[in-house]
Amino acid sequence: MNIAFNRALIGVALITAVFLATGFQASEKTAGTAPPPVPKRTQEAQAMMTPQDALAKLRAGNARFAAGQSRARNLPSEVRATAGGQYPFAVIVSCLDSRAPVELLFDQGIGDLFNARVAGNVLNDDIVGSLEFACKVSGSKLILVLGHSNCGAIKGAVDGVELGKLTGLLDKIKPAAAQVPDSVQPRTSKNNEFVEKVAEANVHLVMKQIREQSPILREMLDAGSIGLVGGMYDLTTGEVHFITN
Ligand SMILES: [Zn+2]
Repeated sequence: MNIAFNRALIGVALITAVFLATGFQASEKTAGTAPPPVPKRTQEAQAMMTPQDALAKLRAGNARFAAGQSRARNLPSEVRATAGGQYPFAVIVSCLDSRAPVELLFDQGIGDLFNARVAGNVLNDDIVGSLEFACKVSGSKLILVLGHSNCGAIKGAVDGVELGKLTGLLDKIKPAAAQVPDSVQPRTSKNNEFVEKVAEANVHLVMKQIREQSPILREMLDAGSIGLVGGMYDLTTGEVHFITN
């Protein structure tokens, strides 16, 4: 009698365990396969945005990224949804550095951002032309010039590195180094404070050059139809400090 009862009890326990395990797996599977919604990226949505909205979107995205709370994305769906056209809300000039991929650090998806990347986030005619395309033709609302901490291009420029075509690129950063007060010494890549100040001065310099070199963008900026901000990305925290003056 006892043996039969124990067997029955074990049987019930096993069935319960299997049921619970199956139920748990089923609910987990349902949660895991629910596709995240694909954000709306339409010409109307882009046109409704202000430069301030675009900046707020970048700030919020970076806050999510830095907190480890980037949104789940269904990238294949985003690819399909954007195949017919693009309406990015911002254009970013940023450094070549592999540690500063803008879509990731602003938690944006396919079709959200134009991005021109070049060592030291310097400017040339082709990049100015790209910015004109982004804003005048494609309707982007904000230009962000993004420098970053511990930048190899800035270090190369302050140390006077010469190498092939890189020499000319680094020359573009030297006026930024000259703007950092003489009191900041030594003026080499060994001095982290100097390197960071040059990187920030370089962001300001490029912002100024954009206004000077493009009458098209200057007119849009003066009309308030687009905005221009700078930013410094901190490689150690994942945070962007925006420069809005
Ligand atoms: Zn860099």
